[in-house]
Amino acid sequence: MPELPEVETMVRDLRPRVVGRRIERVSLSHDDILRGVTKPMLLKRLKGATVQSVTRRAKHAVIDLGGRRLVVQPGMTGNLIHYARPLTDAEAKYAVLRAAIDDGTELVYRDIRRIGTLLLLGERDWQDYDSALGPEPLDPTLDAARFGRIFGGSRQAVKKVLMDQRKIVGVGNIYANEALFAAGIDPSKPAHRLDAEAHARLLGEVQRILRAAIDSQGTTFRDYRTGTGEPGNFQLELAVYGREGEPCRVCGTRLAHTHDIDARITVFCHRCQR
Ligand SMILES: [Zn+2]
Repeated sequence: MPELPEVETMVRDLRPRVVGRRIERVSLSHDDILRGVTKPMLLKRLKGATVQSVTRRAKHAVIDLGGRRLVVQPGMTGNLIHYARPLTDAEAKYAVLRAAIDDGTELVYRDIRRIGTLLLLGERDWQDYDSALGPEPLDPTLDAARFGRIFGGSRQAVKKVLMDQRKIVGVGNIYANEALFAAGIDPSKPAHRLDAEAHARLLGEVQRILRAAIDSQGTTFRDYRTGTGEPGNFQLELAVYGREGEPCRVCGTRLAHTHDIDARITVFCHRCQR
């Protein structure tokens, strides 16, 4: 699933290409990805709208159309892609939303499995949506003390808290595995048992890994593409995710794995993570 770095990469690619541009024509191939808005209403609101900004909140892309925001939750296989050339037949096949821009280019929401969702939110619904989400991990005002309070109040496994979007956003399974390994913290440890030093270490590793992933344009998931349709390349640098049974890069111990924490795969080193 695209996590924070992948969506950040997408919006950074799109921003210079579509902000300030007017949407001239819109089409939607399937309405099963819409939430809280009908197809006729979506098309009506998008057509003629000017893109004010393209930002990210949590793992979602937010396109401000002036008064309304189109929130794109890419799910497992969704991407927003800007095409400066006509789409090939293969590209058009999975293009769910197509918005023709006034400079002759096209903004496309592509989704092979259509697990992603599109929301169109007015100001008040946007406030509700935004306030239901936890703080951004790269927000400069998020310090170790505030980060620590998030964990201090929970008896759940630290990995579960790290991935709970109501507590802190943007960290999914891949980066949670990586950050906990880098911080030397056992993913199953009850969150309230972390001390202040562990909070600072974990926050530091979460931020370092997310920034590194953004710098290398995100991880390549099977269907992930950047905002210009290129695959990301962070997969080359993953230390634990996808490496169960292989030797730990720090101590050489065979990496263990479990599905017991949150039903997702957790890969960790018994020796390095306490
Ligand atoms: Zn190790």
